[in-house]
Formats: sequence, structure tokens, C-alpha cells
Amino acid sequence: MSKHIIPHSYQISNEDRMASNKHNSLLIWFTGLSGSGKSTIANVVEQKLFKKGIKTYTLDGDNIRKGINNDLTFSPEDRTENIRRIAEVSNLMLDAGLVVLAAFVSPYKKDRENIRTIVKDVNFVEVYINTSVDECERRDVKGLYKKARAGEIKNMTGISSPYEAPVNPDIEIKTEIETVEDSVKRIVDFITPKLLRQ
Ligand code: ADP
Repeated sequence: MSKHIIPHSYQISNEDRMASNKHNSLLIWFTGLSGSGKSTIANVVEQKLFKKGIKTYTLDGDNIRKGINNDLTFSPEDRTENIRRIAEVSNLMLDAGLVVLAAFVSPYKKDRENIRTIVKDVNFVEVYINTSVDECERRDVKGLYKKARAGEIKNMTGISSPYEAPVNPDIEIKTEIETVEDSVKRIVDFITPKLLRQ
């Protein structure tokens, strides 16, 4: 199939778009258990960047699992396909010159490594939101842990499905000892030099 797909040469390049935006594109990928704080932190990071005039977009379970990936379950194979598609969508957004914030449990190490391959290492910042299962379960923001304990949800990450923690993330946030504000500052400080154009 793909051997017959010959790319058209468009006149507006990724470089043109980044120059027009006055910043580089970047994918900030938040991984961690459900309820760990990914969306909360990503949301505040996005607000800070947006206020600086940076072109941003946030991808999360709400806008992806209800749309493009609404045919996928939480089986290991579908979780892998979920992340692959999100990485490809992110890649288009990077090509469009955006700073993409992606907040997904993304429990498998090999899937997260695959994102790096798809979007190229230089565009990718991995943020590990490290919150213990006990704390996530205590917060139980969406009531999912309760349902998992009751056996109503199968394949619940941290309970009945594995989470492979990043070994060497670019940033690790321990939300049990760090405030949202401090976490956000650390992320913004880390990525700001990467957004600057020479
Ligand atoms: P996720 O997107 O990882 O599923 P959410 O961001 O939806 O998680 O939920 C995390 C919950 O934890 C929110 O209710 C948030 O207010 C709370 N929380 C408490 N302390 C922190 C912290 N330091 N960082 C992020 N979230 C925190």
C-alpha cells in the first residue's frame, strides 16, 4: 500500500510554521497512573505557555478515546494501538508547529519508546507524574479504582494491569511531596530553552 504513496512537495514547511509562530514545536508527554495528576498539571502548564503566546494543544483521554480511538478497548494490544495513533496525531501537530501536551496513562515502556521514534527524540519530553497507587486510589477522581476493586472494571492500570514506570524520564514529579505550582514551574523552566529559536 504505502509503496504507491508518493509525498507531494508542499511549499509551506515545518520551519516556515515555526518561524511564523516564533517558537519550536514540542511534544510534552505526561505519563502516570489514573488520578496521578497528569491532566491537572498539563492544564496549568498549557495556560502558562498560552499566556506567553505559544501555540498549544492538549490531547487527553477525553478528546481521543471519545473520537479517533473510540473503537479501542483497554486490552494490551489496543492500548498499544491507542498510543501509536496518539503519537501519529501528535506528529502532525508538531509538523503544524504546535506545542502538544499529551496526558495519557501510557503504561508500557515500549509504547513510550515508540513515540520517541515516531516524533524524533529532539521533539519529545517525557514527564513522569509519579504518584503512588495508594494515593491515586485515595483521590479516586473518577471513581475508577472503586469500580476496579469491585471487579466492574478489568484491566485497571495499577490494580489489575501493569504500569511500567519510566526509568529515565526527562522530568519526574512526585505529587505527594510537590505542589502543582512547583511542578509546573519545573516543567516550564525545562522546556523553555527548547522552544527558543536560534
Ligand atoms: P490524571 O489526569 O493523571 O488521571 P487528574 O489530574 O485528573 O489525574 O487528577 C489528579 C487529582 O489529584 C486532582 O484532583 C488534583 O487536584 C489532585 N492533586 C493533589 N495534589 C496534586 C499535585 N501535587 N499535582 C497534581 N494533582 C494533584
